[in-house]
Amino acid sequence: MREELKVPHISTGDILRQAVADGTRLGLEAKKVMEAGQLVSDEIMLGIIRERLTQPDAQRGYILDGYPRTLPQARSLDELMGERSAPAVVVANISVDREELVRRISGRRSCTNCKAVFNVHLQPPQKPDVCDGCGQSLVQRADDEEDTVRERLAVYDRETRPLLEYYGDRVANVDGQGSPQDVLERLSSVVAQHVGERGKS
Ligand code: AMP
Repeated sequence: MREELKVPHISTGDILRQAVADGTRLGLEAKKVMEAGQLVSDEIMLGIIRERLTQPDAQRGYILDGYPRTLPQARSLDELMGERSAPAVVVANISVDREELVRRISGRRSCTNCKAVFNVHLQPPQKPDVCDGCGQSLVQRADDEEDTVRERLAVYDRETRPLLEYYGDRVANVDGQGSPQDVLERLSSVVAQHVGERGKS
């Protein structure tokens, strides 16, 4: 979708995992919190997002993945976008049955080398635990183990679900059941519709 919209995909989870891999101070602080399925502090996250959104590639818009996750993050994102007179937000609320979600997340495996993502249930690699693309080994993220996934979902219910009310009519609901391709098509059409409508006003 980032190709169609010509905007960067900004994943705060990816930024944090890179910091962990690089062994930076941020990475050392974030590692334990992430492995426990908890949220990194709003203060740290705000610093990260503020810095990322000022990069040249983010000036025409962006897809934020995993941000905001709390009310203070959402409020400060609105403030940040107001300061920069950025276009309005479209919030995609992708709904998936809870047990299906646990199965999808705990089935995820990613390549240690090229970062390609597979799923043992939905998109298995040809040889177990080996990347089809580059032949390197596939691993499960520590926070994708089932118990941690359930903890992350409890954190979602407590901290992130209230954002649906905060965003109100800025939320676009997307049915997340079915294949990745089905969901991508639904998501793209909802985003295109919202972007088009905003563009007219
Ligand atoms: P994700 O890849 O989006 O599932 O994020 C992985 C983990 O990174 C989360 O479970 C949190 O520990 C941390 N994280 C990512 N984004 C945020 C955020 N916006 N606020 C707080 N913690 C975050």
